[in-house]
Amino acid sequence: MAERRPDPEIPSAPSAPSVPFPVEPLDEHNRALLANVHPADWVNPRPAARYHLVVVGGGTAGLVSAAGAAGLGARVALVERHLMGGDCLNVGCVPSKGILRAARAWEEARQAASRFGGPAAAGAPSFGAAMERMRRLRAGISPHDSAERFRGLGIDVFLGDARFTAPDAIEVDGQVLRFRRAVIAAGARAAVPPLPGLAEAGFRTNETIFNLTELPRRLAVLGCGPIGCELAQAFARFGSEVTLLGRQAQLLPREDADAAAIVAAALTRDGVRLELGIKATAVLRRGAEKVLQYDHVQGMARQGGEGGRRELAVDEILVATGRQPNVEGLGLRAAGVRYTSKGVEVDDRLRTSNPRVFACGDVASKFQFTHVADAQARLVIQNALFFGRARASALTVPWCTYTSPEVAHVGLHERDARGRGLEVDTLTVPLADNDRAVLDGEDEGFLRVHLERGTDKILGATLVAEHAGDMLGELCLAITQGIGLGSIAGVIHPYPTQAEVVKKAADTWRRGKLTPRVKKLFAWWFRVLS
Ligand SMILES: Cc1cc2nc3c(=O)[nH]c(=O)nc-3n(C[C@H](O)[C@H](O)[C@H](O)COP(=O)(O)OP(=O)(O)OC[C@H]3O[C@@H](n4cnc5c(N)ncnc54)[C@H](O)[C@@H]3O)c2cc1C
Repeated sequence: MAERRPDPEIPSAPSAPSVPFPVEPLDEHNRALLANVHPADWVNPRPAARYHLVVVGGGTAGLVSAAGAAGLGARVALVERHLMGGDCLNVGCVPSKGILRAARAWEEARQAASRFGGPAAAGAPSFGAAMERMRRLRAGISPHDSAERFRGLGIDVFLGDARFTAPDAIEVDGQVLRFRRAVIAAGARAAVPPLPGLAEAGFRTNETIFNLTELPRRLAVLGCGPIGCELAQAFARFGSEVTLLGRQAQLLPREDADAAAIVAAALTRDGVRLELGIKATAVLRRGAEKVLQYDHVQGMARQGGEGGRRELAVDEILVATGRQPNVEGLGLRAAGVRYTSKGVEVDDRLRTSNPRVFACGDVASKFQFTHVADAQARLVIQNALFFGRARASALTVPWCTYTSPEVAHVGLHERDARGRGLEVDTLTVPLADNDRAVLDGEDEGFLRVHLERGTDKILGATLVAEHAGDMLGELCLAITQGIGLGSIAGVIHPYPTQAEVVKKAADTWRRGKLTPRVKKLFAWWFRVLS
């Protein structure tokens, strides 16, 4: 990026950025990333007398709020204390999916000979090269979220810590930003369990794992949710000896149990050792090793070995035990904004206890995904600036865990539907019935659709397939637009595609509609014809 000279008219430069986590190594790619997302020579503008909207946080929720409002003509300020792009670009979706892709390529190369009669993989793999690829791609994506781009959209971009000093004022780096409306989009960070010895022994989270340049020989992954499962599989495919430890008896505890079982089997095949139903008790340092101590929780199903206290010696520990909203240090009391350790409290219109202040994204949502942060930000623009009445509870939320195979879900699980007093019909189509999945050698999976009993109204669906996330869109559209499963039977899908599994579910539903009376009628008709 071109050097920028400070404008002598502008009084204040940001103080040294507070650095919640480091970006390493400082190679050309990470330097390019930083030049976009936290330019060292950035000079904060002189604040306007009053903004229509001040946005705290430059992650997805903040960027979408700011760009959307500015695009509609509002006077907008955006404050980011560390890296524009937030978690998704810097330490979340982007780097994780970058390395997952490399890990999948490695696995496919390894299996090319045995499964497809291809060449046997030869030569030493390079973890360093896979990580460099990720850093290069991340830097390549970063201009989209850059401070410079947002300034170009007409937004006053402030780099520094934002803190409310009054219900209608935020201070950043000694300057006061007055606002009609504000959006708190401060995101979340890894929640680190209070495990004796963990801090002393050292550990990584999503904020530091992507800084690695050398493969840890042995890796313990604490936490069996989406982040833990995705990264455990990737590192195992890269060649680490990975143990995935989780408190719950089921991997991906929020998912359909059959879907989770398929992922557990896939991870095990990739060499991940599963220790489920455990409680970590302490970490010790023994020389260069980190030794994790844990107990099996009584009465819980588990895999692998006898009960009792265990020790696991590793070179690195990745903590992926949940997310904690960034509510500290924002001056929320001064703003009259209520919050708890679970996040900023908002109503269904994403308004906080201060009617001028809204909140969206990970800091205020039980769904912590980039696409939800994006959708909520759009809703906030309507509600904050245009007296909109849009409700967060009306959003149809899909999500996907990008293991191999992926587990994608939208709408309600069967248990949630029953919890709401809804009677449910459930249809399951195995991927083994889908020609393309068989030909791809990717037939371990299924589509499960939950319908309101006796109707074709789709309440929710779970899809387990290699590219389930890409295939789920049709069902998201159907639920959002109230299109019944029966209507999908009339949609021609190209053959052979794995996406045909959705039509197969629709055909299955249609066949189930053939009542004995209709069948009798058809039998009579064919007798007449013969
Ligand atoms: C490893 C990992 C993988 C993920 N993969 C996916 C995925 O595949 N798909 C998906 O949908 N989601 C994924 N997520 C979740 C996704 O990254 C988050 O849901 C998304 O980033 C939330 O956006 P946000 O804007 O709410 O918060 P953030 O991205 O966290 O942004 C908040 C910003 O606010 C800034 N901030 C905080 N306090 C202040 C302050 N006082 N002043 C100024 N700035 C402040 C922070 O520095 C940060 O940049 C993943 C997350 C992780 C950790």
